Amino acid sequence: MIDQIYSYREMCDIENVQTLQRGMNFRMNHRYSVILMSRRSNAPYSDKILEDSITIEYEGHDAPKTSYEINPKTLDQPKLTRNGTLTQNGKFIESVEKYKKDTSELEKVKVYEKILPGVWSLKGFFDLIDYKINHDGKRNVFIFSLKLSDEQDVETNGHIDLKHTRLISSEIKKEVWQRDKGKCVICGSIKNLHFDHDLPFSKGGTSLTAKNIRLLCAKCNLAKSDKIE
Ligand SMILES: [Zn+2]
Repeated sequence: MIDQIYSYREMCDIENVQTLQRGMNFRMNHRYSVILMSRRSNAPYSDKILEDSITIEYEGHDAPKTSYEINPKTLDQPKLTRNGTLTQNGKFIESVEKYKKDTSELEKVKVYEKILPGVWSLKGFFDLIDYKINHDGKRNVFIFSLKLSDEQDVETNGHIDLKHTRLISSEIKKEVWQRDKGKCVICGSIKNLHFDHDLPFSKGGTSLTAKNIRLLCAKCNLAKSDKIE
């Protein structure tokens, strides 16, 4: 479910891995890739949500740090490793190229974002639609475009209405998490939380301010949807 909140351990368990260290994980399993976003003020990459509010621009990854003298931020982001195999950047690029040549399907990418240490939120399933190379005057940086997919839950085939969906920014999520003290605002539970739109988009709600977003547990969310219908 979009905007569901997980601990780091829960996130690893869902993805069936011991640890999740890398930001980019091409084909983490046979169905999808996984990307971790972090928008902390000191985060090393600048990822953003575009104005359509359903597209993310995700920066590729820098070269690995190999010595203290060379800052990876001064080097072109690599497509190939030293051994000539594809880096994670390279794998994501190849997937876009294959899709454009019509030789493969759009890659499904599951995106998680770090709200605070130990607090992760599922941004949803995205389609990897494109990439570009940005030259910032010093070096080349890859920018990947990920568009929120209308097929959200690949397992249960759940669909969402993109017209009425908007991504909540990490800054707002952080603000809401701190304001609501990491607890359901109705019953105080700290389990199965998600960022809830007080007024659904379909009824005119907006995600632009923290005022319309609150922490809700799964139980209280069910009770709420009963009331609306
Ligand atoms: Zn609750």
